[in-house]
Amino acid sequence: MFRLTKEHGRMIGKVKNKENVTKSALASLRLAIKSYFKTYQVASEKGIVKDMYIEEVDAFYEFTMERIDIFCDNTDYQEVYLQCIFHFHHFFELLLKDVLASVHPKLAHKVKLDGDNSAIILDILLNKNPQDLTEDNTAEFMTSLNRVINLMKLNDTTIPIISKIVSDNKQTLVDLNQLRNRVWHKGVYLLRINELDQFISQNVLPLAVRCLNFSNYNELESYWKYKEASSSLDPITEIIRSGQGQIDYKRIAFFKAYGLACYTMPAWEFDVNQVEERAHAIGNAIPDMDVVTCFVCNKKTLLVSTETDFDTDEEGAPVSIWVKSIAAECLNCSLKIFPDIGEPQSHGVECDEMWKFEDVLTE
Ligand SMILES: [Zn+2]
Repeated sequence: MFRLTKEHGRMIGKVKNKENVTKSALASLRLAIKSYFKTYQVASEKGIVKDMYIEEVDAFYEFTMERIDIFCDNTDYQEVYLQCIFHFHHFFELLLKDVLASVHPKLAHKVKLDGDNSAIILDILLNKNPQDLTEDNTAEFMTSLNRVINLMKLNDTTIPIISKIVSDNKQTLVDLNQLRNRVWHKGVYLLRINELDQFISQNVLPLAVRCLNFSNYNELESYWKYKEASSSLDPITEIIRSGQGQIDYKRIAFFKAYGLACYTMPAWEFDVNQVEERAHAIGNAIPDMDVVTCFVCNKKTLLVSTETDFDTDEEGAPVSIWVKSIAAECLNCSLKIFPDIGEPQSHGVECDEMWKFEDVLTE
């Protein structure tokens, strides 16, 4: 049986040549964003995406809101939701601690003074022996958050600018902490998927971007960010934009799928010819399949599948027959979209109309 000893494992500590950047914070950020992007796939599979952008005046509005409620019970949604919240929480927690450590190496640690050893407390109060007040353990999330904010009270020019950003956005971090803690109590507590879109696009992503720009965590995109798509639209920027004013759930859904493909896009093109050949062969072999150029990876590897369906009259004779597109999937970058995101070109990418609907009944 495996028994953990000091010989096992490897320490993945701080980023080289960067002051106070914990690598696992960036790994968590990557996981958080990826998990958030994955919420599109699970919602689309259950037919929830269209429910999210139905208007309040619609006769089915109440019914669709109920479907969104019930979707919280879906275990695939719970899985990606929990990963998203936990990892964003972990990212911000480590970032706050790294900010504190940049002011003083032990500022992120727990302080012993509230312990029960009167002798130590008296020594400190009477200023007798200089004592190390810190423990090995680092402080809790809320303590770290308040310490970063209270740095501003020091009136010192060396105080990091990020303290002001964190202070201005305190509520977002308090809410994130609450969402993470609530998961542990009395069963799983989750935000509905439309509420998650609001929280992430309007609060969490804008704050994460500002924190990354104004801290030692800047210029480390290779640790957490996806590769750039050929259309050069940035999914995080577009999701933040879609959350402003009247939130555009359809556009957010599109950029989640697009962002996930940017993460899975191959870094090397050594076997791209083979992938293109395979896509071409599938297109030739299956009549219901079109092969088009993918707007994420710019290869002719995006398969658009169609299905044929019909309605009959009382005698069973067909009264209408139609062919419609049902999904698009890229063999190279794994982009996977469905008609529930609308036409890709309506979101700013350059491509031909993707979803076809043709009535093919001939008299
Ligand atoms: Zn692609």
